[in-house]
Amino acid sequence: MTTPWGYPDFDAHEALHFVTDEASGLKAIIALHSTHLGPAAGGSRFWHYADDGDALTDALRLSRGMSYKNAMAGLPLGGGKTVILADKERTKTPALLGAFGRAVDSLGGRYVTAEDVGINVDDMIEVARQTKHVAGLPVGEGHVGGDPGPHTSLGVFLGIKAAVRRKLGKDSVNGLHIALQGAGSVAGGVARHAAAEGAKLSIADVDSARAQELAAVTGAMVADPAEIMTLAADVLSPCALGAILTEQSIAALNVPIVAGGANNQLATREDGDRLHARGILYAPDYVINAGGIINVSTEYLGDGGPDLVRSRIAAIPQRLEQIWAESEGTNRDPADVADAMAQRLIGRG
Ligand code: NAD
Repeated sequence: MTTPWGYPDFDAHEALHFVTDEASGLKAIIALHSTHLGPAAGGSRFWHYADDGDALTDALRLSRGMSYKNAMAGLPLGGGKTVILADKERTKTPALLGAFGRAVDSLGGRYVTAEDVGINVDDMIEVARQTKHVAGLPVGEGHVGGDPGPHTSLGVFLGIKAAVRRKLGKDSVNGLHIALQGAGSVAGGVARHAAAEGAKLSIADVDSARAQELAAVTGAMVADPAEIMTLAADVLSPCALGAILTEQSIAALNVPIVAGGANNQLATREDGDRLHARGILYAPDYVINAGGIINVSTEYLGDGGPDLVRSRIAAIPQRLEQIWAESEGTNRDPADVADAMAQRLIGRG
């Protein structure tokens, strides 16, 4: 029998809560990786998994990623994540979300949740009827809260500019070609910022209507999703799926920079080395895409307003610079450098 402790992605997680509510059909795993820096914070994913083991793997990986992301963003938060195991039809009911809210509440604030794939703001409102340990709720003008997507996009755009400065010696993306994988919430914001600064954009999404729509407002070219990762461009910005940087895809890249918002872009740890060996500058995903959690954290902790959120997001480029400088000095790849920094911050170095 394989126990959670025997899973390859088990990383001394502090607690794993397996939640069942037969009446509503809720099955969820709430994974608390680390509470060293504060309550474990991370969103809830609502997804159908062919195999329960895949759900556990996702919960283990994503919660560790949140520990690293929150630590590197300088937030007083640990790392956690929920996966809710949806049925094939992805049936989501108020009863199921309510049961999930009660489960979060039973942890007494050791875990704070927010939106992730498959969970929207309306779902979070439902969860918040049962627990106060929720962020990502709608707020009025001038207050901190709501959809984290635009904040993630801003951080990713600032990170792209930092990479361009370092690798290409340019202070602006004006005239540069950025290939965007995805045309969703994060990619949309990145595309708008980049277009406003005069970048040339190529956008690909498996949902071609979405790509067309974003292209129409940003003047981008629509690219084939099968070709976006091999386009000759200045920057590839992965803003859709994880695990897209593999031995094969890295060998075919035609860019000097990879900097995007998708979580878990490297399929394996060795892929960080592979990018480095090819001389491609990589922005570690959980560092560049922290804008959303910065907003969520400020909302939940109530420790500042929109100006503080903006200044915390504006610090993302400095953190990337620090990682790239250490990477250059030690000839270790940036992902490896970032992991080591994050581990030290959560007391595991
Ligand atoms: P989203 O659902 O709004 O957009 C994702 C888009 O990617 C969709 O339009 C989808 O059709 C497209 N897509 C899926 N597979 C694709 C493929 N093979 N090729 C091209 N496009 C494809 O999601 P989002 O909120 O924009 O998140 C994008 C990524 O950023 C995810 O990896 C997410 O985990 C990560 N992320 C998001 C946030 C946030 O605040 N929203 C924060 C941190 C990280």
